[in-house]
Amino acid sequence: MSDRMLIVDDGKMNREILKNLFRDKYDISEAENGEQALNMIAEQNGNIDIVLLDLIMPGMSGLEVLRECRCVDSLQNIPIVVITSSENMEDQIEAFNLGASDFIAKPFVPAVVVSRVDNVLSSSRRVLSMKREAQQLKLKSELDEMTGIYNKVTTESEMDRLLRVSNEHLEVMMIIDIDNFKTVNDTLGHREGDHVIKMIANLIASQFRKSDIVGRVGGDEFCVMMVDVPNMDIALAKVNEMLQIMKYKPNIPIPEYVTLSIGIASNDRKRTTYEELFKKADEALYNAKHGGKAQFRQYGHNPVQKLIDERDIAVLFSNNRSVRSIISASLPNHIRVVEASAMENLIEMNPSMIESIKIFYMDVSEYEGDAAEFWKEIKKIDWIDRQKIIAVCEEGNVAQYLAALNSGIADMVTEPIEHDAFKKRTIRYLEKLGLKGL
Ligand code: GH3
Ligand code: MG
Repeated sequence: MSDRMLIVDDGKMNREILKNLFRDKYDISEAENGEQALNMIAEQNGNIDIVLLDLIMPGMSGLEVLRECRCVDSLQNIPIVVITSSENMEDQIEAFNLGASDFIAKPFVPAVVVSRVDNVLSSSRRVLSMKREAQQLKLKSELDEMTGIYNKVTTESEMDRLLRVSNEHLEVMMIIDIDNFKTVNDTLGHREGDHVIKMIANLIASQFRKSDIVGRVGGDEFCVMMVDVPNMDIALAKVNEMLQIMKYKPNIPIPEYVTLSIGIASNDRKRTTYEELFKKADEALYNAKHGGKAQFRQYGHNPVQKLIDERDIAVLFSNNRSVRSIISASLPNHIRVVEASAMENLIEMNPSMIESIKIFYMDVSEYEGDAAEFWKEIKKIDWIDRQKIIAVCEEGNVAQYLAALNSGIADMVTEPIEHDAFKKRTIRYLEKLGLKGL
């Protein structure tokens, strides 16, 4: 396929001369003025290899065409040779300033015109190919060869550049480390290990926008910066999504034990550096690993600890406030008091708590119904039957005493309770059960 040439000149005669010189080597189009030329260049969409452009034309001049071409990225690489009259030096200088590649002077000297145009085309081709090579090299040096995302150096420099000028915008850094990755290498070999790294890199990169920065900063460690995030919840949602995907691995053929741990830190809408922010996110990552992996931690935010209370339990069933407060105050801190005031509370007692019940106070002192019936009902709750119950009965209420004793209680106190005596008695009781008294 021949190279394509566009000849732009308002003089038909000039166009004919040039056409005759180049018709064997080029596929030639013609334009009579600047507007037509620009339209044709746009229509051919970068397919013109060289333009011969007259500077002085009615309407849009050659200089104006040059100016337009310089503003459009896709037209900047088309070599333009300007056609001048020798007396017009200023225009020539202006044309070079606007990016013309060379000039040919009227009247044309055929041998000179042909060799200048040929030279321009071949040298512009050389420059273009060097530019492309340099671009590819630059890209190659910026990317991690294995995964195709940014390498460590680029990640650091891109993030640092952004963080140093960013204030008011929220930028969120995440360090993502693959859990148990050494096991993949050890059991399935390095090639499979590489494959897992590539798959996870793809998965991570696919979660973020093009404007976010995603890089591989270690063997199995990635760093992401979400740029200009409206609020932290959006970043946390992304993190959760990644953790979920890696936990359940829908259609992802990697071993079950491979999960992700993620440390997160934000710039708090203030200027910072890569180094400073990385330190914070890394600390959060450390905590995620030590919290058991397959989870994230945010710098400066403690995880909501589910306080697992492993203390022994004293159940305190009472509708009498003073009874409740005296009994609670008499028990040492290492005993957890679980209060109940209705039968339902007992029926619905969490089975894991039942295991830990060591003492059970049943206050019937204010009960006005049939005490024997009451105990019968209570004993129907299966786990209560196994408890050593301390009954609290109204002082002098013989019916209550009898009903309680008949239902097999372990001990009894009378209300009103005398605090000091009760406390001593409680401590002795705990020691008898093999528990610490105080
Ligand atoms: P943890 O759960 O605590 O993160 O431990 P881990 O087993 O994932 O191991 P760690 O993160 O401490 O170390 C990552 C390992 O990844 C170290 C190295 O053997 C391996 N590794 C690093 N780069 C590559 C790589 O390019 N290919 C393969 N196959 N393995 C790599
Ligand atoms: Mg790891």
